[in-house]
Order: sequence, then C-alpha cells, then structure tokens
Amino acid sequence: MEETGRDCKKSSPLVTNISSPDAPPLPGSRMSIYRRKGLLLDGIPVRGYSCVATATRDLWERMFNEGYRTDVAINTDNGGVIHAHASILGMASPVMKNMLKQSRSRGCRRSISIRGVPHPAVRVFIRFLYSSCYEQEEMNEFILPLLVLSHGFVIPSLKRECERQLQNGLLNIENVVDIFQLSLLCDAPRLSLFCHRLIIKSFMVISTTEGWKAMKQSHPMLEKELLESVIDADSRKQERLKKIEQRKIYLQLYEAMEALVHICRDGCRTIGPHDKVLKGDQPPCNFAACKGLELLVRHFAGCKLRVPGGCIHCKRMWQLLELHSRLCSEPSKCKVPLCRNFKERLKQQSKKDEVKWKLLVQNILRAKKVSGASFFSPATAIYA
Ligand SMILES: [Zn+2]
Ligand SMILES: [Zn+2]
Ligand SMILES: [Zn+2]
Repeated sequence: MEETGRDCKKSSPLVTNISSPDAPPLPGSRMSIYRRKGLLLDGIPVRGYSCVATATRDLWERMFNEGYRTDVAINTDNGGVIHAHASILGMASPVMKNMLKQSRSRGCRRSISIRGVPHPAVRVFIRFLYSSCYEQEEMNEFILPLLVLSHGFVIPSLKRECERQLQNGLLNIENVVDIFQLSLLCDAPRLSLFCHRLIIKSFMVISTTEGWKAMKQSHPMLEKELLESVIDADSRKQERLKKIEQRKIYLQLYEAMEALVHICRDGCRTIGPHDKVLKGDQPPCNFAACKGLELLVRHFAGCKLRVPGGCIHCKRMWQLLELHSRLCSEPSKCKVPLCRNFKERLKQQSKKDEVKWKLLVQNILRAKKVSGASFFSPATAIYA
C-alpha cells in the first residue's frame, strides 16, 4: 500500500495539479497544505485551505480494492467481474453515467459490460477513476487499451496521462504504427504528430515491423500517405544538404576574393604588389584562403599555357579575377590585375552571362551576409 501511495504521488495528475512546481509539499509531511494568496486549482481560485492527504487517497484506493457496499458489477472478457460504485463511475464518466441509466438492475444492483480489452486493463482503468492511481508496470503493459478506454469513456485526465507516458518513453519502434493509428481514432493530435515524426525518422526499421505489415493490409491508404511523407521529408533533407554545400562554396569564394584584394594591395608573405617591398618579418596572415591563393598566383605567373581553358589552374585564376572585377567598386584605384579590363569587357557581355554572374555575386554576398562588409559592400548596390 505504501509503495502504491508513492507511485501515485509521482504519477497522479490530480495530485500533480495541486502540488504545482511553485508550491512543493513540505519536506517530511504526509499532507500537502497550501494557504497562499492567488493559488489556482484547475484554474479556479482556492480560498482558505486546500488539503489532499495521503489518507484521502488511501481511502479512495480502499474503497475500490475492498469493494465496500458496491452496487455495480462490470462484466469483462472471459467471465471477469469488477465490483464498483455507480455514483463514482457516473461522476467520473458521462458515458458510464448513460450506460448505468440504461443498464438492467436487479434490486439496487446493476451490471454493465466493458469488452474487447483484457480484464486486468479494465481493472487498472476503474482504479484510475477512483484514485487517479496506477502502477507503472500496469501502464507499460496496458497503455494501448487504457488509451482506448480513456477516449471511449471520455476521461481526459487518463488520456493525457497515457499520452505523457507514451511521449516519455513507452512509444517505440515496435508499437509506433499501432499507436499512430490509435491516436488518429482517439483524436489525440499531439500524439499522432509525435508518432508521425518517429515513423519518418526511423522509417527503414519501422517499415519492417509487424505493425507496419498489419497496417499495410488493413489501411493501405494510410500506408500510402505515410510513404509520401517519407519521400517529402527525404527530398527536403536533400535540398537542405545541397543548400549547405552551396553556401560553403560561396563562402570559400568570398574568402578567396578578400584574400586576393589583400595580396594585391598589402602583399602577403612572399607575394605582393610590385611597388611594395615585403619584409621577412610580417605579422601572421588572417586570411584563411591566402595560402591556396598564393600558390595559384605563383602558378599563374609562371604557367606557359596561361590562356582561359588552357590549364585548369589558370582557368580558375581567370574566373577569380573576373569575379573580383564584378565585386569591385573602385576599379580605378584597384591593384588586382585585369580588374579594369574586365570592367570594360562587362559592357559587351551577353544578357545570359550578365544574369549568370549577377546571380553568383548575389549568392556570394548573401552567404556572407555582407550588409556592411569591408571591400565589397559598394558593389552590392550595383548587383542588388
Ligand atoms: Zn595573407
Ligand atoms: Zn596554368
Ligand atoms: Zn578591383
């Protein structure tokens, strides 16, 4: 009994509501007493004292377990019977109230039936109606029938508890397809979203489970819809990865552009403008792209095939130089080779080329988010 009491305190929504986080029970006390201004219980202000004692809960537990003066027999599958109190069942569930009204009575005793779910699950369900208590092992075993019962008999507190338990660990690869279908039938949108996400995430494994095979047979349309969402999610993921990859390339280009201006204007290590003497003890360079660019510039200076299309390294260099000129806003002062020549050629370019280059420049600037970036910002205005 003591064990049950502790379990219940942890899991019962009724008790949880009263001992809301801002007002924990007093340490060592077996009774939670609150006398606080503005305390709300289910949204209703509580005046004076509100006490839920362990003893009260135990009383409800005993009432169910000992069946004192029960007046209803609940018939379950395989000849099982659970004795209960009509007044409690009727108050807990409007559906039960109706069933009791229409039930056959012998003297002051009535009987109703709850079939289609295992007898122990109905017992757990009825106990919850009395005390909002259950054992974790029972919840683990009967979570599916309990969800169905909570929906069928309109017990929102149990439904919430089942959803909470599923989301906190009872939902798994094996049962997710069954629970997904159940969540659709039981009008539990949050739970179905949760299941849907898990199915999409672990589709490869879930599609081999018994639950999936059964659904394929019984609800082929649902299977079709799920397959479509898996394909959608997959293409969205591919698209995302492609964008990330592209952005990386644009950023590399941007860095190469910065390093090119830096090499041609200030000089770096062994390479620099012809009118500047480079000292051996230069400060360390901050441009990551500098090293690679330095090698490329060296190659470009010495290559015999230095024509566009003649050699892949030179071709790369030509492209970088052209890209620079499209980003450069001060060709008259610029020290990057061929900057002005390319600007001149720009006037003769075809419409198709113009669009292509504009797009590249826009993408590079967007990737860097260069609203106020150092050397290239004035050009943004030209290409925006
Ligand atoms: Zn450098
Ligand atoms: Zn070359
Ligand atoms: Zn320039």
